[in-house]
Amino acid sequence: MNRSNAPYPDYKRACGWKETAELSQKHPRLTGSQTCDAIIIGAGYTGIGIASQLAKLQPESDIRVLEAETIGAGSPGRNSGFVLEHAFTGVNAEATGELYRHYQSTQNAMREIAYPGAVTANSTIFKGAATDRGMRNLSTLASLLKKSGQPFEWMSPERLRSITGSSYYRAGLNLPGNSLVNPYALISNLARSLPATITLHEQSPAIHLSQTSSGWLATTPEGALQAPQVFLANNAFAASLGFGNAYSVKIFTYAGITPKLPADLFAALAPEGQWGLLPAHRLGSTLRTTDDGRLLIRGFYGYEREGNDATRSYLEQSLLNRFPELSSYGLEEWWGGTTSLTANGAPLWGQLKKGLFASIGCNGVGILKGTLLGQQLANLASGQPCLNVHELMGVPIWMPPEPIRHIGFNLVSAVERRLAGAER
Ligand SMILES: Cc1cc2nc3c(=O)[nH]c(=O)nc-3n(C[C@H](O)[C@H](O)[C@H](O)COP(=O)(O)OP(=O)(O)OC[C@H]3O[C@@H](n4cnc5c(N)ncnc54)[C@H](O)[C@@H]3O)c2cc1C
Repeated sequence: MNRSNAPYPDYKRACGWKETAELSQKHPRLTGSQTCDAIIIGAGYTGIGIASQLAKLQPESDIRVLEAETIGAGSPGRNSGFVLEHAFTGVNAEATGELYRHYQSTQNAMREIAYPGAVTANSTIFKGAATDRGMRNLSTLASLLKKSGQPFEWMSPERLRSITGSSYYRAGLNLPGNSLVNPYALISNLARSLPATITLHEQSPAIHLSQTSSGWLATTPEGALQAPQVFLANNAFAASLGFGNAYSVKIFTYAGITPKLPADLFAALAPEGQWGLLPAHRLGSTLRTTDDGRLLIRGFYGYEREGNDATRSYLEQSLLNRFPELSSYGLEEWWGGTTSLTANGAPLWGQLKKGLFASIGCNGVGILKGTLLGQQLANLASGQPCLNVHELMGVPIWMPPEPIRHIGFNLVSAVERRLAGAER
């Protein structure tokens, strides 16, 4: 198969976190023809959430996870590492508040099993606005947080300067309870915490999925798995296996990281300790410090493209707009990662066909959301009580096919980029 249109990731650029963490795991590829009780496609936050919950509910079952790459080499380990228990989207304020409480419990459980070696201690996480539009967005968000019972505190420009060392931002919302992690270390820890009844197969992409008389058959380059139940947890790549294309689209977003900065320079950028800033506009830039004294920036969206030198320049310019003192350092590494967007932000979640379950469409935020939705999907598939995900998050709406979809994305993102202004 030509890897450029393969139904699994084929990243050209290595991710900066991977080298930082120097963690790796070895699980066997799938070889030969085998049968099992459940197949999970994708070992990201969603797939591991499904696997851990299925193992609790069905301890005797033979559960297999097919991962296209090595654990964490893809989006689960390529992200910016904000573990967000604040909920920003729900069908209404009440649902948003309920989601917040579920994300809190999800983080509490994750903290116990996967934070050692992955979490940044004592970080301050906040939304920051640099423009009038951004300030208005923060006010709207503040009223949602208030109505939905989520904690926050307004931050003045002076407070923001004393945290980031930069005068770029005009207002902020402090969001207590969230965490910064090294995502590569986090997903590796989560995978390691799975019970022995779960078998992980790395470097084993599902390249074809078909329905059979007794369930589902997933084919990989060197083997095949047959099971009565299959779970699609491969997010942006589910559509390439033939499911969810009418509701979701694969979008790349990008991150870059500086080299390790001299101690005095880093101290000037983080006078009070580690921090993470979320943008006040959806096309704005996310920034954070890291335990090893670097600054990471995430920004920009590309339609099904991993990015090129222009992407790097875009990220670097956004960084230097805020921190001109970094001009002689720039970005040491930059990379792209996939996310799956739906038109209205609702996930494609539930049983799509008999024995075929899916949780896809992370819409750019997925560490806690993916874990929670994965666990709930396992409950649904096992006939256990589960959250009414559609009532809380809505259902995704239909997206037009190509080429209208591509043209539509480019138009919307051009307009949004303009509106984002200095939040980019
Ligand atoms: C640059 C960047 C920054 C981000 N920052 C944040 C952040 O700070 N906080 C946050 O919460 N979210 C962030 N996200 C989004 C976050 O990474 C995703 O929401 C999250 O990873 C979704 O988890 P998931 O398990 O649903 O899907 P994914 O993480 O995409 O995992 C899917 C897994 O399936 C595998 N796979 C794909 N196709 C196949 C196949 N055919 N067969 C087998 N396996 C397959 C992939 O290799 C991958 O391991 C960011 C994303 C990017 C790209």
